[in-house]
Amino acid sequence: MRVEFDEDTCIGMYQCVAEWDAFSKDKDRGKAILEGSEEEEDGIFAREIPEDAELDAKFAARTCPVDAITIYDDDGEQIIP
Ligand code: SF4
Repeated sequence: MRVEFDEDTCIGMYQCVAEWDAFSKDKDRGKAILEGSEEEEDGIFAREIPEDAELDAKFAARTCPVDAITIYDDDGEQIIP
């Protein structure tokens, strides 16, 4: 499973931080940080999701009010949102 985080879309409400500890707060910039990710395109950060974190990652994606977090399954299908 894979997660993508769109920093430009993020409005810094930090619900994701409460759901999955891979997300932390950049309060100066009003954005979340996806720890351990690489910037794959401009403002798009991505990483693999460890199996034991899949549930937390899904909750983080579901709770984001602006859909800045996208989850893909192992076949590359978008499953959230
Ligand atoms: S919940 Fe969404 S908008 Fe809020 S900090 Fe996380 S990614 Fe950004």
